[in-house]
Amino acid sequence: MVASMTGSFQLMKSLNRSLILNMIRVYGPISRAEIAKKASLTPPTVTNIVNELLNDELVKEGKMGASKGGRKPILLTINKESHFIFGVDVGAQEVRIALTNLSADVICLKRSKLPKGFTKEELMTMIKENIQHVLDEEPVPQSKILGIGIGMHGIVDHEKGIAVYAPNYGLSDIRMKEELEKEFPFTVKVENDARALALGELWFGHGQEKQNVVCVNVGIGVGAGIILGGRLYHGEHGIAGEIGHTIIDLNGRRCSCGNYGCLQTVAGSTRITDRVIEEISLGRKTMITELVEGNSDWITGEIVHQAATQGDPLAKEVLEQTGRYLGIGLTNLINFVNPEKVIIGGGVSRAGEYILDPIKEIVQNRALTDRARTTEIVPSKLGEKGTIIGAATLILAELFDYQIS
Ligand SMILES: [Zn+2]
Repeated sequence: MVASMTGSFQLMKSLNRSLILNMIRVYGPISRAEIAKKASLTPPTVTNIVNELLNDELVKEGKMGASKGGRKPILLTINKESHFIFGVDVGAQEVRIALTNLSADVICLKRSKLPKGFTKEELMTMIKENIQHVLDEEPVPQSKILGIGIGMHGIVDHEKGIAVYAPNYGLSDIRMKEELEKEFPFTVKVENDARALALGELWFGHGQEKQNVVCVNVGIGVGAGIILGGRLYHGEHGIAGEIGHTIIDLNGRRCSCGNYGCLQTVAGSTRITDRVIEEISLGRKTMITELVEGNSDWITGEIVHQAATQGDPLAKEVLEQTGRYLGIGLTNLINFVNPEKVIIGGGVSRAGEYILDPIKEIVQNRALTDRARTTEIVPSKLGEKGTIIGAATLILAELFDYQIS
């Protein structure tokens, strides 16, 4: 894996170096002596590597720690403003490109709407141009940029960095890593969006300190990122976590995958708006009609949520039904994977309790054992920026994670 690294990144990897860097990230502020103890390394080794990290400005010295007799030790922390990462969320309708620091805090964000019927060349051009805009506008030297992480919907070959199939675009075989590494001197990592989100939650959100977590991304599609033993689980062919395509209604609607009755045909955001439109066409009275001034094309998940918060019975009913289907999907998932926690992100999760309450109710009634029924289910902590933060974390995981190489 190290051999595929480009630019400044290549110089940064070594086993002990990543180990020490990660210790400072997790336990900082921390002294050199404590690192040596926790990492079972000799004090001179730690001193040498810390000197390198100080030179590279990846860590910095801060305040003094408590003294145990002699000199007070100087404590080390991550120098989070020293380097930067691009986090890219290639969504169903828009591309969002952010520059983040080493804590995945977003420093600047560019969003571009995707036109209808674009080609993969046009998509890649848009991503490249937007990255270039950020590089032109932000006073950040290129040598301080560690890489580009991309969260992409659909089936992704994360090793080759290829979007194998992107159902929302009807495009396949988009060679994202290759194309971007040709254009920029940075390492590029591409991951499925739900997995990127799961990684972001593991590092910076509700997955911290957890080993076995599932993060479900509910938007137009429904996908899950599975973390087992603190690592992303891809499966043999990279389709692990595709719960949106588990079939829960044999006589259901046709799905983008070609099968019928997949979870996402009943619990994805499109079904929310479709159900509302159906009910209105059958003569059902709802505040949504006024909110969109009678134009059913304007109905979105957000508007349905807005109507629900204002007490609209149809809006509440539709969101609750979506929640119940998701509850069935999550019960299946809990029975398969048995995670410590399930985190729900994506647009649909922003409907809050209207979706979450029925999900919890179904899981509490149907999961296999008493303990499984109490599996914690929480909304994403990272919210709208979750996929961006997760995408940036793909690069951070390479930098900090000594277990990877
Ligand atoms: Zn499907």
